[in-house]
Amino acid sequence: MHFEFNEEQLALRDMVRKFTEKEVAPYYTKWDREKKYPKHINKKIGELGLIGMAIPPEKGGMGASHVTEGMVCEEVSRGDCSLTMSTFVVGHLDAEILAHGNDKIRKEFLEPFLAGDQIPAFAITEPGSGTDAVAMKASAVKKGAKYILNGEKAGITAMMDADFAIVFAKTDPAAGARGVSCFVVPTKYPGVELQSYEDMGVRSVARGSIFMDDVEIPADYLIGKEGTGFVMGMQGFDISRILLALEAIAPAMVSLEETVEYTKQRNAFGRPIATFEGVSFPIVEHISMLEAVRLLCYQGLWLRDQGRSSSKVAGMVKWMAPRFATNAIRDCLVLHGHPGYTNEFPFEQRLRDVLAIEIADGTSQVSKLVAQREIFGRDYLPYNYRNK
Ligand SMILES: Cc1cc2nc3c(=O)[nH]c(=O)nc-3n(C[C@H](O)[C@H](O)[C@H](O)COP(=O)(O)OP(=O)(O)OC[C@H]3O[C@@H](n4cnc5c(N)ncnc54)[C@H](O)[C@@H]3O)c2cc1C
Repeated sequence: MHFEFNEEQLALRDMVRKFTEKEVAPYYTKWDREKKYPKHINKKIGELGLIGMAIPPEKGGMGASHVTEGMVCEEVSRGDCSLTMSTFVVGHLDAEILAHGNDKIRKEFLEPFLAGDQIPAFAITEPGSGTDAVAMKASAVKKGAKYILNGEKAGITAMMDADFAIVFAKTDPAAGARGVSCFVVPTKYPGVELQSYEDMGVRSVARGSIFMDDVEIPADYLIGKEGTGFVMGMQGFDISRILLALEAIAPAMVSLEETVEYTKQRNAFGRPIATFEGVSFPIVEHISMLEAVRLLCYQGLWLRDQGRSSSKVAGMVKWMAPRFATNAIRDCLVLHGHPGYTNEFPFEQRLRDVLAIEIADGTSQVSKLVAQREIFGRDYLPYNYRNK
């Protein structure tokens, strides 16, 4: 058993850490306040070959392991866990799906996305269906050499800055999950409208809705085959949920590191507050739990690298990481006393950002359902039981 990255991974981690410390972390608060997608940084990350890095080289990626992908996502999240929500987490889902596309899709969309020149969105949620995604209403009807798309997708990360959306829509409404197909929809096409949200966190990669009113796209913008969209989408979640967990753990760990230093310097009653167990024990407890979940994350990524299932681990870490991270950051804020409550410190922003991870890519409850399926078996899922 190895609990260390190899030489090559450590060299990459050092490079990404230096990049993050110089180019990302100092601007975390600025990009949030300006609500501005740092496209120039996304471009640099693309130039470094880090977007969609697990995609095989013949399709334009680095063919990196998922463990390496997680390590890079974690490093950049130490500087800005909002940016990584788009570039690495949704980016993973987008890259995996686009790699299923034909040559035209790969050339027109996957290549510029991996290079950091175009930003994609991943659009599955609708106003009336999130957790129960198969209940989606968006439709795609084939008409000669075109598909006509109608419907609304809601709550989509980076929607306002996206050049195109990967849209899930029903081609056979009677066929349930097997009636869902997946399409590329450029956001500049006639019939497409976008609307932004006023979110409490993750504000630099603004969420939005996409409305499609008789949007005509070429038939070869269908990704894969008709009816395979849902399965393709779900496959990506077994990795993206682990990346999200690492995305939550990173800012919590940075907050704890900062708090260890702060409590060593800050005095009360004639000694450093770090010497009070009421101060140091919560820090120890948070680090204990976060380090345990972090190891579980890497085990899940490693399992996928071995061609084994990461579903159970993905379900487990996706509920634990944001919950533990939120608790940790909250305590770090309080341990900084009254200045910690101001926006001079990044704790309030980290709290807002990490809370989003409890909902994105499926809520904590749904993550537990995924783990439940693996532990109890499919027969004991609530929706299967109801249908018996
Ligand atoms: C920051 C952020 C980024 C997002 N980015 C994207 C994106 O890029 N693309 C995209 O398509 N979507 C995105 N989403 C949407 C997200 O995937 C959905 O919000 C999520 O799947 C939940 O769906 P819902 O909001 O419709 O809640 P609902 O499905 O209406 O659920 C409401 C509540 O009921 C609970 N619930 C539902 N069913 C069960 C059950 N069987 N057992 C127990 N509890 C249950 C849920 O856990 C939740 O708490 C994003 C959301 C956020 C907050």
